[in-house]
Amino acid sequence: MMKKKNSCDSIYECIKNFTENKGHPIKILLGFYKGEMKTLLTSTFFLILQNLPVWVVPVATSNIINIATSPAGHKIPDILINAAIAAVTILQNAYSTYSVSKFYDRLTRKIEFMLRSSIIQKLQQLSMSYHKNVNSGKLQSKIMRDCESIEVLLASAYRHILIIAISITVSITVTVMNSPIVVLFFVLIVPLEVLLLRILRSKITTRNTIFRKEMEKTQSNVSEMIELIPVTRAHGLQQREMRRMDNRLGHVMSAGYSLDKTNSLFGASSYVLMESARLACLVFTGILAFNGKISIGEVVLYQTYFGQLVSCVNTLFSLYPQLTKGIESVNSIGEILYEERVETDNAIIPLSDMKGQVEFSNVHYRYAGSDRWTLEDFTLSVKPGESIAFVGSSGAGKSTILDLLIGFDNPQEGQILIDRVNMLNLDMTEYRNQIAVVPQNTILFSGTIRDNITYGLDHVSDEEVNSVIKSVGLDDLLDLLPNGMNTQLGEHGGKLSGGQRQRVSIARALLRKPKIIIFDEATSALDTASEKKVQAAVDNMMKQCTTFMVAHRLSTVRNVDRIVVLDKGHIVEVGSHDELMAKKGAFYELKKLQE
Ligand code: ATP
Repeated sequence: MMKKKNSCDSIYECIKNFTENKGHPIKILLGFYKGEMKTLLTSTFFLILQNLPVWVVPVATSNIINIATSPAGHKIPDILINAAIAAVTILQNAYSTYSVSKFYDRLTRKIEFMLRSSIIQKLQQLSMSYHKNVNSGKLQSKIMRDCESIEVLLASAYRHILIIAISITVSITVTVMNSPIVVLFFVLIVPLEVLLLRILRSKITTRNTIFRKEMEKTQSNVSEMIELIPVTRAHGLQQREMRRMDNRLGHVMSAGYSLDKTNSLFGASSYVLMESARLACLVFTGILAFNGKISIGEVVLYQTYFGQLVSCVNTLFSLYPQLTKGIESVNSIGEILYEERVETDNAIIPLSDMKGQVEFSNVHYRYAGSDRWTLEDFTLSVKPGESIAFVGSSGAGKSTILDLLIGFDNPQEGQILIDRVNMLNLDMTEYRNQIAVVPQNTILFSGTIRDNITYGLDHVSDEEVNSVIKSVGLDDLLDLLPNGMNTQLGEHGGKLSGGQRQRVSIARALLRKPKIIIFDEATSALDTASEKKVQAAVDNMMKQCTTFMVAHRLSTVRNVDRIVVLDKGHIVEVGSHDELMAKKGAFYELKKLQE
């Protein structure tokens, strides 16, 4: 287990590395190794030991063949010494392979952890306007698939690139020392391969980007499709949905196929080139041996080294698609880590014990990309403990007011004051710890009913949980469940009805003992009997804190202190239920429509 402090430090370093090297994926990749020099050197030492047989065994083999083919001047122990050296290098491979994994794999897994954790940290900081516009499937793909691609790249690049460099050096050095003319063959191959790489490189990069984007789109469509299954089934649209998904999967298939074709063309061209050169090398060294210029052992040695050179260059080529995929993943993760729509949290003025006074002062708000104000010159002063209901036609701006009050976004003009402090200067965490929100769409997570009610609160006693369960009328349901409040819910609270889920959400809010409570259509999914119970709990709550609610069913707002009637972002009427009914204005008309 990694210690918490180290994890946070690493995540901070990871984000810093991304920000400092913006636009330079290779620098970003190298930056992950910062501060890990000791681990890197230790694992490199074992990596070299691990690969020792590759360089030593061919020399021992060549020596043994030379001794065997020209026994004059040699003894049997000469063969045994060569065999013993080869055997030792082979045997130590088991331990060195394990050690490389022990040191290096821990490092790459840590990098993978850091990447995922820093994305999650950033997602928690990004504003709600960002989250409202981004698809969760796409984010999942970045957290899981892209981080894995980077881990795979770092693991294989390190293992191969260093060894390839050493192998090429050893092969060429040994060959130069024995027969400089054979080196010519080795040297000729490199520029040819580089040429091939340059021709195919841009195609592979483009195809990788296309494939990654197609995968992201598909992932978001898949998650949407799964969420839509009940709607699809209810409207008998399965065939249509399957066709739509097949069409999407078809795009992935063709993008993947194009990528595969380019990759294999790349690999095949490289193979043909290399094997032809190897054959030419065999013919060339065979003729040299035939003419007595080199020994039979040397022919075998050059073939082995040349074979290694071939596989080195081939590995480099096969690494290239992995490298471009990894770089593409660095860019993909950058799309989140560079995102600037972070929620502002100035934390200039401490709020400490909030009273719950709220003032909207000439608030103007428009959504990004919209050319009209959703709220225009909205002014309302609310005393601590007062209860306010926003009513009005659909799209009037009721939920927008609540979003601003939660601090999901800030007004472009005017200000919202909490206990006379501009919200912009508040510590949002401190503020939100003292408010509770019951949203329009209840969001539950897989866990027990108790976990869902106590979400974010530590050390809550069963008595307290039971009390809120009772006040929202969930006790009857819990009596029927074998494990009561410890019953596991399915994903998204799948085992509960809409009304039951809404009551869990209300219980969650009540338990927090907030100073401000916000209900957005909180009783819309309740039947009359449970609504009565919940209404009693809500009425009770209204006496203890400042309450804001949005309600379409006007019968539920009878007990609030003031009703604010909205139309197209403007206040058209404010007053108590009885005052507005007596006035026979907009509220009266709305109420008449519901009777
Ligand atoms: P309802 O009663 O139907 O929930 P509402 O009164 O709560 O409606 P809001 O959700 O506040 O209305 O929306 C007010 C206006 O802002 C609407 O015209 C809506 O189309 C627009 N709007 C809401 N969310 C966004 C958004 N993310 N981007 C652009 N416009 C938006």
